[in-house]
Amino acid sequence: MRKITIVGGGQSGLQLGIGLLKNGHDVRIVQNRTADEIATGRVLSSQCMFHTAVQNERDLGIDFWSESCPPVEGISFAVPDPEGSGAKVIDWTGRLDNPAFSVDQRVKIPRWMEEFTSLGGQLVIAEAGLDELETYARQDDLVIVASGKGEIGRLFERDAEKSTFDKPMRALALTYVTGMTPRPGHSAVCFNLIPGVGEYFVFPALTTTGPCEIMVFEGVPGGPMDCWQDVKTPEQHLAKSKEILDTFLPWEAERCRNVEMTDENGRLTGRFPPTIRHPVATLPSGRKVLGIGDAVCLNDPITGQGSNNASKAAAIYLRRILDHGDRPFDGEWMQGTFDRFWDYAQWVVTWTNMLLMPPPPFVLELMGMAGAVPALAHRMANGFDDPRDFFPWFADPDAARSYMNELKAA
Ligand SMILES: Cc1cc2nc3c(=O)[nH]c(=O)nc-3n(C[C@H](O)[C@H](O)[C@H](O)COP(=O)(O)OP(=O)(O)OC[C@H]3O[C@@H](n4cnc5c(N)ncnc54)[C@H](O)[C@@H]3O)c2cc1C
Repeated sequence: MRKITIVGGGQSGLQLGIGLLKNGHDVRIVQNRTADEIATGRVLSSQCMFHTAVQNERDLGIDFWSESCPPVEGISFAVPDPEGSGAKVIDWTGRLDNPAFSVDQRVKIPRWMEEFTSLGGQLVIAEAGLDELETYARQDDLVIVASGKGEIGRLFERDAEKSTFDKPMRALALTYVTGMTPRPGHSAVCFNLIPGVGEYFVFPALTTTGPCEIMVFEGVPGGPMDCWQDVKTPEQHLAKSKEILDTFLPWEAERCRNVEMTDENGRLTGRFPPTIRHPVATLPSGRKVLGIGDAVCLNDPITGQGSNNASKAAAIYLRRILDHGDRPFDGEWMQGTFDRFWDYAQWVVTWTNMLLMPPPPFVLELMGMAGAVPALAHRMANGFDDPRDFFPWFADPDAARSYMNELKAA
């Protein structure tokens, strides 16, 4: 049995902690907010999770919501006519092979905290700083920092080589609502790209009050969707959300005639620079700690991959810990563990960062072609579950050309 402390009890920390407990390890999780504070606080994310990530939860017996959470059954993609006609110039839908689910973290995290303690885990409600990390590292075999966007993550040095941007690329906003008209046919993440302005996507989810829809706004900084500075109240937040749709996306506005906020905390605004950090930090004592999830691999939510990455990282770290037996968790093992995750995550990061930049002509061509070729729409939709499948054809003009020729020939 190894003694392991995890700082931060979010998607990655709790999933990993529960996995370790179920494999007989002694686990402490240090969490700076109580379950009640999380359940009654602001929404944290839109957390749409695709099949592989949800399966990781099922494997641990902690997917408590697949029966009650409305499924996301596809991905649809639309681009409005830049001339303002109100029509769509690109429009396609791809069906997901397996449904995705978005369970409000205000629902999931408190339930997982309860599960963690009922399995015998030690849950400490405290803000961990450097002194606490030193204490945990002295007492335990391994300390993992899963603090999300928390300050303590700055302990890990920014990796300038892996970080494409040094400033926020989008002004973000979330609006949790009820009363939205469903899209025709099956449910989907309805993704709308408004060139030069930003993106809007919306999908069904489960929140503290039951089923809902989550509206996600990604405004290009300084543009007309970077417009949340003066929004203070829930009423203003909802009005601003509807105003954006009325202005740019009439088909989405139409679905929102009767929407209401789920609760006064069903909203969020903010921005942050996507940042990759070196995964191993050395404390003043010389002891080392390992980062996981957003603490070391923070992406813009434009592709909805953060929770998916956190789940996949937790699954990889769990396997690495179990396979390591009684050997010491030294710096080399820590770096190797992150590298195993990065073998996968580098593709997610590259694809996500591509979508934050104006799309090159060959990507627009691919997006347009998906409207006529269902196989391509299907592949693009299912790429959200494993973005490695976008490469090389989504990133390289020659590969895109030969793939499009292949599709035309077929
Ligand atoms: C607007 C928005 C939309 C998003 N949409 C999606 C989406 O659709 N799909 C998707 O997959 N991802 C999405 N994400 C990202 C996703 O929410 C995160 O990537 C994911 O939650 C990261 O998990 P984590 O375990 O790294 O950190 P978190 O889940 O953030 O957990 C970190 C925990 O550590 C705690 N903590 C922090 N500092 C300390 C400290 N010093 N001591 C003790 N505890 C501490 C925090 O309170 C928190 O509980 C979105 C994010 C945002 C901001």
